[in-house]
Amino acid sequence: MYDPKSKKAEEFIDHDEVMASLKFAEENKHNEKLLREILERAKLRKGLPHREATALLECEIDEINEEILKLAGQIKRDFYGNRIVMFAPLYLSNYCVNGCLYCPYHLKNKHIKRKKLSQEEIKNEVIALMDMGHKRLAIEAGEDPVNNPIEYILESIKTIYSVKHKNGEIRRVNVNIAATTVENYKKLKEAGIGTYILFQETYHKESYERLHPTGPKHNYAYHTEAMDRAMEGGIDDVGLGVLFGLELYRYEFAALLMHAEHLEAAFGVGPHTISMPRVKRADDIDPDVFDNGISDELFAKICALIRISVPYTGMIISTRESQAVRERLLALGVSQISGASRTSVGGYSEEERPHDTEQFDVSDTRTLDEVVGWLVKLGYIPSFCTACYREGRTGDRFMKLLKSNQIQNCCHPNALMTLKEYTEDYASPETKAIADKLILDETKNVPNENVRRIVLDNLKKIESGARDFRF
Ligand code: SAM
Repeated sequence: MYDPKSKKAEEFIDHDEVMASLKFAEENKHNEKLLREILERAKLRKGLPHREATALLECEIDEINEEILKLAGQIKRDFYGNRIVMFAPLYLSNYCVNGCLYCPYHLKNKHIKRKKLSQEEIKNEVIALMDMGHKRLAIEAGEDPVNNPIEYILESIKTIYSVKHKNGEIRRVNVNIAATTVENYKKLKEAGIGTYILFQETYHKESYERLHPTGPKHNYAYHTEAMDRAMEGGIDDVGLGVLFGLELYRYEFAALLMHAEHLEAAFGVGPHTISMPRVKRADDIDPDVFDNGISDELFAKICALIRISVPYTGMIISTRESQAVRERLLALGVSQISGASRTSVGGYSEEERPHDTEQFDVSDTRTLDEVVGWLVKLGYIPSFCTACYREGRTGDRFMKLLKSNQIQNCCHPNALMTLKEYTEDYASPETKAIADKLILDETKNVPNENVRRIVLDNLKKIESGARDFRF
Protein backbone atom coordinates (compact mmCIF):
# COMPACT_ATOMS: atom_id res chain seq x y z
CA MET A 1 0.00 0.00 0.00
CA TYR A 2 1.37 3.40 -1.00
CA ASP A 3 2.33 5.53 1.97
CA PRO A 4 4.80 8.38 1.47
CA LYS A 5 5.37 8.58 5.23
CA SER A 6 6.22 4.90 5.61
CA LYS A 7 9.83 3.93 6.33
CA LYS A 8 9.47 0.81 4.17
CA ALA A 9 10.89 1.04 0.67
CA GLU A 10 8.09 -0.93 -0.93
CA GLU A 11 5.50 1.39 0.59
CA PHE A 12 7.03 4.78 -0.22
CA ILE A 13 8.14 3.55 -3.67
CA ASP A 14 5.00 1.51 -4.11
CA HIS A 15 5.11 -0.32 -7.46
CA ASP A 16 1.34 -0.09 -7.95
CA GLU A 17 1.42 3.66 -7.36
CA VAL A 18 4.18 4.06 -9.95
CA MET A 19 2.22 1.94 -12.43
CA ALA A 20 -1.01 3.87 -11.75
CA SER A 21 0.88 7.13 -12.35
CA LEU A 22 2.22 5.83 -15.65
CA LYS A 23 -1.28 4.74 -16.66
CA PHE A 24 -2.68 8.16 -15.73
CA ALA A 25 0.08 9.80 -17.79
CA GLU A 26 -0.52 7.55 -20.79
CA GLU A 27 -4.27 8.17 -20.70
CA ASN A 28 -3.83 11.92 -20.52
CA LYS A 29 -0.97 12.57 -22.87
CA HIS A 30 -3.28 14.36 -25.32
CA ASN A 31 -5.57 15.87 -22.67
CA GLU A 32 -4.74 19.50 -23.28
CA LYS A 33 -7.10 20.88 -20.64
CA LEU A 34 -5.64 18.76 -17.86
CA LEU A 35 -2.04 19.23 -18.94
CA ARG A 36 -2.51 23.00 -19.09
CA GLU A 37 -4.00 22.97 -15.58
CA ILE A 38 -0.96 21.08 -14.33
CA LEU A 39 1.37 23.51 -16.05
CA GLU A 40 -0.47 26.44 -14.43
CA ARG A 41 0.00 24.80 -11.03
CA ALA A 42 3.70 24.39 -11.77
CA LYS A 43 3.90 28.13 -12.41
CA LEU A 44 3.09 28.71 -8.73
CA ARG A 45 6.65 27.42 -8.11
CA LYS A 46 5.62 25.09 -5.32
CA GLY A 47 6.57 21.94 -7.20
CA LEU A 48 4.38 19.19 -8.62
CA PRO A 49 3.29 15.84 -7.26
CA HIS A 50 4.77 12.82 -9.04
CA ARG A 51 1.59 11.84 -10.84
CA GLU A 52 1.04 15.24 -12.40
CA ALA A 53 4.72 15.61 -13.29
CA THR A 54 4.61 12.19 -14.99
CA ALA A 55 1.63 13.31 -17.04
CA LEU A 56 3.71 16.26 -18.31
CA LEU A 57 6.55 13.85 -19.08
CA GLU A 58 4.24 11.90 -21.35
CA CYS A 59 2.64 14.99 -22.88
CA GLU A 60 2.72 14.87 -26.67
CA ILE A 61 1.47 18.40 -27.32
CA ASP A 62 4.38 20.39 -28.77
CA GLU A 63 3.27 23.77 -27.47
CA ILE A 64 2.97 22.54 -23.91
CA ASN A 65 6.34 20.82 -24.15
CA GLU A 66 7.90 24.09 -25.21
CA GLU A 67 6.26 25.85 -22.30
CA ILE A 68 7.65 23.24 -19.91
CA LEU A 69 11.20 24.04 -21.05
CA LYS A 70 10.55 27.76 -20.79
CA LEU A 71 9.10 27.49 -17.30
CA ALA A 72 12.01 25.33 -16.14
CA GLY A 73 14.45 27.99 -17.34
CA GLN A 74 12.50 30.70 -15.53
CA ILE A 75 12.28 28.76 -12.28
CA LYS A 76 15.99 28.00 -12.53
CA ARG A 77 16.80 31.70 -12.89
CA ASP A 78 14.34 32.79 -10.17
CA PHE A 79 15.61 30.29 -7.59
CA TYR A 80 19.28 29.94 -8.46
CA GLY A 81 20.06 33.12 -10.38
CA ASN A 82 23.04 32.61 -12.66
CA ARG A 83 25.26 30.85 -10.10
CA ILE A 84 26.70 27.43 -10.87
CA VAL A 85 28.37 25.57 -8.01
CA MET A 86 31.59 23.78 -8.92
CA PHE A 87 32.93 20.49 -7.55
CA ALA A 88 35.16 17.55 -8.41
CA PRO A 89 34.88 13.85 -7.60
CA LEU A 90 37.76 12.19 -5.77
CA TYR A 91 38.03 8.41 -6.16
CA LEU A 92 39.53 6.84 -3.05
CA SER A 93 39.34 3.16 -3.89
CA ASN A 94 37.94 0.92 -6.60
CA TYR A 95 37.92 -2.24 -4.50
CA CYS A 96 34.33 -3.48 -4.52
CA VAL A 97 32.50 -6.63 -3.48
CA ASN A 98 29.32 -5.90 -5.43
CA GLY A 99 28.31 -7.28 -8.79
CA CYS A 100 26.69 -4.21 -10.43
CA LEU A 101 26.32 -5.08 -14.12
CA TYR A 102 26.88 -1.51 -15.34
CA CYS A 103 29.99 -0.71 -13.28
CA PRO A 104 33.52 -1.88 -14.13
CA TYR A 105 34.45 -2.02 -10.44
CA HIS A 106 32.29 -5.13 -10.02
CA LEU A 107 33.95 -7.99 -8.18
CA LYS A 108 34.18 -10.33 -11.16
CA ASN A 109 36.21 -7.85 -13.21
CA LYS A 110 39.60 -9.47 -12.78
CA HIS A 111 41.56 -7.39 -15.25
CA ILE A 112 40.85 -3.86 -13.97
CA LYS A 113 43.69 -2.63 -11.79
CA ARG A 114 42.57 -2.32 -8.16
CA LYS A 115 43.83 0.60 -6.19
CA LYS A 116 43.19 2.19 -2.83
CA LEU A 117 44.80 5.52 -2.01
CA SER A 118 47.03 5.80 1.05
CA GLN A 119 46.59 8.92 3.19
CA GLU A 120 49.78 10.28 1.62
CA GLU A 121 48.37 9.70 -1.86
CA ILE A 122 45.12 11.39 -0.83
CA LYS A 123 47.13 14.46 0.18
CA ASN A 124 48.74 14.54 -3.25
CA GLU A 125 45.38 14.23 -4.97
CA VAL A 126 43.95 17.01 -2.84
CA ILE A 127 46.90 19.29 -3.59
CA ALA A 128 46.45 18.65 -7.31
CA LEU A 129 42.75 19.52 -6.98
CA MET A 130 43.52 22.63 -4.92
CA ASP A 131 46.04 23.75 -7.52
CA MET A 132 43.20 23.78 -10.05
CA GLY A 133 41.06 25.87 -7.68
CA HIS A 134 38.62 23.32 -6.29
CA LYS A 135 37.13 23.86 -2.83
CA ARG A 136 34.40 21.20 -2.85
CA LEU A 137 34.85 17.48 -3.41
CA ALA A 138 32.65 14.44 -3.68
CA ILE A 139 34.50 11.37 -2.47
CA GLU A 140 33.75 8.08 -4.21
CA ALA A 141 34.58 4.53 -3.25
CA GLY A 142 33.51 1.01 -4.05
CA GLU A 143 31.85 -1.05 -1.32
CA ASP A 144 34.33 -3.30 0.43
CA PRO A 145 34.15 -3.77 4.19
CA VAL A 146 37.71 -5.12 4.32
CA ASN A 147 39.52 -2.68 2.02
CA ASN A 148 37.31 0.40 2.41
CA PRO A 149 35.78 0.15 5.91
CA ILE A 150 34.10 3.22 7.38
CA GLU A 151 37.26 3.94 9.39
CA TYR A 152 39.18 4.34 6.12
CA ILE A 153 36.56 6.74 4.77
CA LEU A 154 36.56 8.76 8.00
CA GLU A 155 40.34 8.95 8.10
CA SER A 156 40.36 10.05 4.46
CA ILE A 157 37.87 12.85 5.17
CA LYS A 158 40.05 14.02 8.05
CA THR A 159 43.10 14.01 5.79
CA ILE A 160 41.29 15.98 3.08
CA TYR A 161 40.16 18.69 5.50
CA SER A 162 43.64 18.87 7.08
CA VAL A 163 45.56 19.69 3.89
CA LYS A 164 46.49 23.35 3.55
CA HIS A 165 48.47 24.26 0.46
CA LYS A 166 49.21 27.84 -0.64
CA ASN A 167 45.78 29.53 -0.44
CA GLY A 168 44.06 26.22 -1.06
CA GLU A 169 41.83 24.20 1.22
CA ILE A 170 38.93 21.84 0.74
CA ARG A 171 35.96 23.35 2.52
CA ARG A 172 33.26 20.82 1.81
CA VAL A 173 33.51 17.07 1.36
CA ASN A 174 30.41 15.36 0.01
CA VAL A 175 30.34 11.59 0.26
CA ASN A 176 29.16 9.03 -2.29
CA ILE A 177 29.60 5.64 -0.68
CA ALA A 178 27.40 2.58 -0.47
CA ALA A 179 24.35 2.40 1.79
CA THR A 180 25.37 1.90 5.40
CA THR A 181 24.09 1.86 8.97
CA VAL A 182 22.67 4.70 11.10
CA GLU A 183 25.76 4.34 13.29
CA ASN A 184 28.06 4.96 10.32
CA TYR A 185 25.97 7.86 9.08
CA LYS A 186 26.37 9.44 12.52
CA LYS A 187 30.12 9.05 12.17
CA LEU A 188 30.07 10.68 8.73
CA LYS A 189 28.04 13.56 10.14
CA GLU A 190 30.57 13.99 12.96
CA ALA A 191 33.37 13.99 10.40
CA GLY A 192 31.81 17.15 8.95
CA ILE A 193 30.57 15.95 5.60
CA GLY A 194 28.39 18.08 3.36
CA THR A 195 25.88 16.03 1.39
CA TYR A 196 25.52 12.27 1.55
CA ILE A 197 24.94 11.13 -2.02
CA LEU A 198 23.64 7.75 -3.03
CA PHE A 199 22.23 6.95 -6.43
CA GLN A 200 19.30 4.59 -6.46
CA GLU A 201 20.43 3.37 -9.92
CA THR A 202 16.91 2.03 -10.60
CA TYR A 203 13.76 2.13 -8.51
CA HIS A 204 12.29 -0.86 -10.31
CA LYS A 205 12.79 -3.64 -7.78
CA GLU A 206 13.02 -6.56 -10.18
CA SER A 207 15.48 -4.79 -12.44
CA TYR A 208 17.39 -3.59 -9.43
CA GLU A 209 17.88 -7.16 -8.25
CA ARG A 210 18.86 -8.32 -11.72
CA LEU A 211 21.36 -5.49 -12.15
CA HIS A 212 22.85 -6.11 -8.71
CA PRO A 213 22.99 -9.91 -8.68
CA THR A 214 25.56 -10.30 -5.91
CA GLY A 215 26.98 -8.46 -2.92
CA PRO A 216 25.35 -6.32 -0.22
CA LYS A 217 23.99 -3.89 -2.80
CA HIS A 218 21.63 -6.65 -3.99
CA ASN A 219 19.31 -5.77 -1.10
CA TYR A 220 16.77 -3.36 -2.64
CA ALA A 221 15.10 -2.31 0.61
CA TYR A 222 18.40 -1.66 2.41
CA HIS A 223 19.60 0.49 -0.48
CA THR A 224 16.32 2.35 -0.97
CA GLU A 225 15.92 3.08 2.75
CA ALA A 226 19.49 4.39 3.07
CA MET A 227 18.45 8.06 3.01
CA ASP A 228 16.09 7.43 5.91
CA ARG A 229 18.96 6.00 7.92
CA ALA A 230 21.20 8.90 6.89
CA MET A 231 18.54 11.33 8.14
CA GLU A 232 18.22 9.35 11.37
CA GLY A 233 21.99 9.60 11.71
CA GLY A 234 21.69 13.40 11.56
CA ILE A 235 22.65 14.00 7.91
CA ASP A 236 19.95 16.30 6.62
CA ASP A 237 21.48 17.09 3.24
CA VAL A 238 21.05 14.03 1.06
CA GLY A 239 21.51 13.65 -2.69
CA LEU A 240 19.35 11.37 -4.84
CA GLY A 241 19.86 10.17 -8.39
CA VAL A 242 19.03 7.43 -10.83
CA LEU A 243 21.38 6.03 -13.42
CA PHE A 244 19.38 6.87 -16.53
CA GLY A 245 19.49 4.23 -19.21
CA LEU A 246 19.12 1.19 -16.97
CA GLU A 247 15.35 0.98 -16.53
CA LEU A 248 12.45 2.59 -18.30
CA TYR A 249 12.81 6.29 -17.74
CA ARG A 250 9.13 6.93 -16.99
CA TYR A 251 9.26 4.53 -14.08
CA GLU A 252 12.44 6.12 -12.74
CA PHE A 253 11.07 9.61 -13.08
CA ALA A 254 7.87 8.92 -11.16
CA ALA A 255 9.68 6.93 -8.47
CA LEU A 256 12.45 9.52 -8.06
CA LEU A 257 9.82 12.17 -7.32
CA MET A 258 8.08 9.76 -4.94
CA HIS A 259 11.37 9.36 -3.10
CA ALA A 260 11.66 13.15 -2.79
CA GLU A 261 8.05 13.34 -1.55
CA HIS A 262 8.79 10.59 0.95
CA LEU A 263 11.73 12.51 2.47
CA GLU A 264 9.60 15.61 2.73
CA ALA A 265 6.71 13.67 4.29
CA ALA A 266 8.80 11.62 6.71
CA PHE A 267 11.47 14.16 7.70
CA GLY A 268 10.09 17.54 6.68
CA VAL A 269 12.97 18.15 4.28
CA GLY A 270 13.32 17.09 0.69
CA PRO A 271 16.54 16.04 -1.04
CA HIS A 272 19.31 18.63 -1.14
CA THR A 273 20.33 17.56 -4.64
CA ILE A 274 19.29 15.30 -7.48
CA SER A 275 21.99 14.01 -9.83
CA MET A 276 21.29 13.01 -13.40
CA PRO A 277 23.91 10.47 -14.52
CA ARG A 278 23.50 8.41 -17.71
CA VAL A 279 25.24 5.05 -18.19
CA LYS A 280 28.58 5.40 -19.93
CA ARG A 281 31.05 3.13 -21.65
CA ALA A 282 33.62 1.80 -19.21
CA ASP A 283 36.33 -0.84 -18.90
CA ASP A 284 34.23 -3.98 -19.46
CA ILE A 285 30.89 -2.20 -19.79
CA ASP A 286 29.07 -1.62 -23.06
CA PRO A 287 26.23 0.86 -22.37
CA ASP A 288 24.38 -0.36 -25.46
CA VAL A 289 23.45 -3.61 -23.72
CA PHE A 290 21.09 -1.62 -21.51
CA ASP A 291 18.58 -0.87 -24.17
CA ASN A 292 16.78 1.84 -22.24
CA GLY A 293 19.14 4.62 -23.25
CA ILE A 294 17.48 8.01 -23.58
CA SER A 295 18.07 10.65 -26.24
CA ASP A 296 19.52 14.07 -25.43
CA GLU A 297 16.13 15.56 -26.25
CA LEU A 298 14.32 13.42 -23.71
CA PHE A 299 17.08 13.92 -21.17
CA ALA A 300 16.53 17.67 -21.45
CA LYS A 301 12.80 17.26 -20.89
CA ILE A 302 13.40 15.11 -17.82
CA CYS A 303 15.80 17.73 -16.48
CA ALA A 304 13.25 20.50 -17.03
CA LEU A 305 10.51 18.49 -15.33
CA ILE A 306 12.63 17.71 -12.30
CA ARG A 307 13.37 21.45 -12.07
CA ILE A 308 9.71 22.43 -12.01
CA SER A 309 8.66 19.48 -9.80
CA VAL A 310 11.18 20.11 -7.02
CA PRO A 311 12.22 23.78 -7.36
CA TYR A 312 14.10 23.75 -4.04
CA THR A 313 16.39 20.87 -4.92
CA GLY A 314 19.81 21.51 -6.46
CA MET A 315 20.52 19.56 -9.65
CA ILE A 316 23.87 18.07 -10.60
CA ILE A 317 25.33 17.10 -13.95
CA SER A 318 28.76 15.52 -14.17
CA THR A 319 31.44 15.26 -16.84
CA ARG A 320 29.74 12.07 -18.03
CA GLU A 321 27.98 14.52 -20.34
CA SER A 322 29.49 16.54 -23.17
CA GLN A 323 29.96 20.30 -23.15
CA ALA A 324 26.94 20.68 -25.46
CA VAL A 325 24.60 18.61 -23.28
CA ARG A 326 25.81 20.37 -20.15
CA GLU A 327 25.22 23.74 -21.72
CA ARG A 328 21.66 22.81 -22.57
CA LEU A 329 20.88 21.41 -19.12
CA LEU A 330 22.36 24.42 -17.32
CA ALA A 331 19.68 26.54 -18.93
CA LEU A 332 16.95 24.12 -17.85
CA GLY A 333 17.69 23.52 -14.22
CA VAL A 334 21.15 22.25 -13.39
CA SER A 335 22.75 24.25 -10.58
CA GLN A 336 25.93 22.28 -9.89
CA ILE A 337 28.55 20.78 -12.18
CA SER A 338 31.88 19.03 -11.85
CA GLY A 339 34.92 20.24 -13.73
CA ALA A 340 38.19 18.63 -14.85
CA SER A 341 37.09 15.34 -13.28
CA ARG A 342 39.17 12.21 -13.32
CA THR A 343 37.27 9.06 -12.49
CA SER A 344 40.33 6.96 -11.81
CA VAL A 345 41.88 6.25 -8.42
CA GLY A 346 44.85 8.60 -8.06
CA GLY A 347 44.15 10.25 -11.43
CA TYR A 348 44.71 13.85 -10.43
CA SER A 349 48.34 13.33 -9.45
CA GLU A 350 49.19 12.00 -12.92
CA GLU A 351 50.25 14.23 -15.77
CA GLU A 352 48.19 12.34 -18.38
CA ARG A 353 44.60 11.16 -17.76
CA PRO A 354 45.00 7.50 -16.67
CA HIS A 355 42.45 4.89 -17.80
CA ASP A 356 43.51 1.74 -15.97
CA THR A 357 41.41 2.28 -12.81
CA GLU A 358 38.75 4.50 -14.35
CA GLN A 359 35.07 4.08 -13.51
CA PHE A 360 33.68 5.40 -16.78
CA ASP A 361 34.64 7.48 -19.80
CA VAL A 362 34.44 11.21 -19.26
CA SER A 363 32.89 13.23 -22.11
CA ASP A 364 33.83 16.71 -20.95
CA THR A 365 37.61 16.60 -20.58
CA ARG A 366 38.28 20.34 -20.33
CA THR A 367 40.42 21.87 -17.59
CA LEU A 368 38.74 23.67 -14.70
CA ASP A 369 39.99 26.98 -16.09
CA GLU A 370 38.36 26.21 -19.43
CA VAL A 371 35.10 25.26 -17.72
CA VAL A 372 35.14 28.43 -15.59
CA GLY A 373 35.89 30.60 -18.64
CA TRP A 374 33.12 28.89 -20.60
CA LEU A 375 30.58 29.50 -17.81
CA VAL A 376 31.54 33.15 -17.53
CA LYS A 377 31.17 33.62 -21.29
CA LEU A 378 27.70 32.10 -21.03
CA GLY A 379 26.83 34.66 -18.34
CA TYR A 380 26.98 32.27 -15.38
CA ILE A 381 28.86 32.86 -12.15
CA PRO A 382 30.97 29.79 -11.33
CA SER A 383 30.69 29.54 -7.55
CA PHE A 384 33.16 27.86 -5.22
CA CYS A 385 30.95 28.65 -2.26
CA THR A 386 30.71 26.19 0.62
CA ALA A 387 29.15 28.55 3.16
CA CYS A 388 25.80 26.97 3.91
CA TYR A 389 26.79 23.87 5.78
CA ARG A 390 29.68 25.68 7.45
CA GLU A 391 27.16 28.21 8.76
CA GLY A 392 24.84 25.41 9.89
CA ARG A 393 22.38 26.06 7.06
CA THR A 394 21.58 22.44 6.24
CA GLY A 395 18.32 20.58 5.78
CA ASP A 396 15.27 22.72 6.46
CA ARG A 397 17.40 25.75 7.46
CA PHE A 398 18.85 25.76 3.95
CA MET A 399 15.38 25.38 2.47
CA LYS A 400 14.19 28.36 4.57
CA LEU A 401 16.95 30.51 3.11
CA LEU A 402 15.87 29.49 -0.37
CA LYS A 403 12.26 30.24 0.38
CA SER A 404 12.99 33.58 2.10
CA ASN A 405 14.21 35.38 -1.03
CA GLN A 406 17.47 36.26 0.72
CA ILE A 407 19.50 34.28 -1.79
CA GLN A 408 20.59 37.41 -3.67
CA ASN A 409 21.97 38.85 -0.42
CA CYS A 410 23.69 35.63 0.58
CA CYS A 411 24.49 33.04 -2.11
CA HIS A 412 25.07 35.67 -4.77
CA PRO A 413 27.75 37.58 -2.78
CA ASN A 414 29.31 34.29 -1.67
CA ALA A 415 29.57 33.19 -5.28
CA LEU A 416 31.24 36.47 -6.24
CA MET A 417 33.73 36.36 -3.37
CA THR A 418 34.72 32.73 -3.99
CA LEU A 419 35.04 33.34 -7.71
CA LYS A 420 37.30 36.28 -6.85
CA GLU A 421 39.50 33.91 -4.84
CA TYR A 422 39.63 31.71 -7.92
CA THR A 423 40.61 34.55 -10.25
CA GLU A 424 43.31 35.74 -7.84
CA ASP A 425 44.85 32.34 -7.19
CA TYR A 426 44.21 30.01 -10.13
CA ALA A 427 42.73 31.60 -13.25
CA SER A 428 44.58 32.04 -16.53
CA PRO A 429 44.97 35.70 -17.58
CA GLU A 430 42.11 35.38 -20.11
CA THR A 431 39.72 33.80 -17.62
CA LYS A 432 40.74 36.30 -14.94
CA ALA A 433 39.99 39.24 -17.19
CA ILE A 434 36.45 38.17 -18.08
CA ALA A 435 35.63 36.78 -14.61
CA ASP A 436 36.82 39.90 -12.78
CA LYS A 437 34.64 42.01 -15.04
CA LEU A 438 31.66 39.75 -14.36
CA ILE A 439 32.26 39.94 -10.61
CA LEU A 440 32.25 43.72 -10.69
CA ASP A 441 29.13 43.87 -12.86
CA GLU A 442 27.34 41.37 -10.65
CA THR A 443 27.98 43.27 -7.41
CA LYS A 444 25.33 45.66 -8.72
CA ASN A 445 22.83 42.82 -8.41
CA VAL A 446 23.20 42.55 -4.63
CA PRO A 447 19.96 44.19 -3.50
CA ASN A 448 20.88 45.11 0.08
CA GLU A 449 23.06 48.20 0.08
CA ASN A 450 24.87 47.29 3.25
CA VAL A 451 25.67 43.79 1.99
CA ARG A 452 26.86 45.26 -1.30
CA ARG A 453 29.25 47.57 0.52
CA ILE A 454 30.66 44.67 2.53
CA VAL A 455 31.10 42.61 -0.65
CA LEU A 456 32.99 45.38 -2.42
CA ASP A 457 35.19 45.80 0.62
CA ASN A 458 35.83 42.05 0.84
CA LEU A 459 36.69 41.85 -2.85
CA LYS A 460 39.43 44.42 -2.21
CA LYS A 461 40.65 42.46 0.78
CA ILE A 462 40.80 39.30 -1.35
CA GLU A 463 42.98 41.19 -3.83
CA SER A 464 45.27 42.00 -0.91
CA GLY A 465 45.54 38.36 0.11
CA ALA A 466 42.73 37.77 2.63
CA ARG A 467 40.57 34.67 2.05
CA ASP A 468 37.40 32.84 3.04
CA PHE A 469 34.75 35.52 3.49
CA ARG A 470 31.17 34.36 3.62
CA PHE A 471 27.65 35.30 4.57
N1 SAM B 1 29.94 2.43 -4.73
C1 SAM B 1 28.96 3.36 -4.27
C2 SAM B 1 27.58 2.79 -4.47
O1 SAM B 1 27.46 1.65 -4.75
O2 SAM B 1 26.62 3.54 -4.36
C3 SAM B 1 28.99 4.73 -4.90
C4 SAM B 1 30.12 5.17 -5.69
S1 SAM B 1 30.01 4.86 -7.41
C5 SAM B 1 31.69 5.16 -7.57
C6 SAM B 1 29.11 6.23 -8.05
C7 SAM B 1 28.06 6.01 -9.11
O3 SAM B 1 28.67 5.82 -10.38
C8 SAM B 1 27.17 4.82 -8.98
O4 SAM B 1 26.16 5.03 -8.05
C9 SAM B 1 26.64 4.65 -10.40
O5 SAM B 1 25.38 5.27 -10.56
C10 SAM B 1 27.65 5.38 -11.25
N2 SAM B 1 28.19 4.49 -12.30
C11 SAM B 1 28.66 3.25 -12.18
N3 SAM B 1 29.00 2.73 -13.37
C12 SAM B 1 28.74 3.68 -14.29
C13 SAM B 1 28.84 3.76 -15.71
N4 SAM B 1 29.30 2.74 -16.45
N5 SAM B 1 28.46 4.90 -16.32
C14 SAM B 1 28.00 5.94 -15.62
N6 SAM B 1 27.88 5.94 -14.29
C15 SAM B 1 28.24 4.82 -13.62
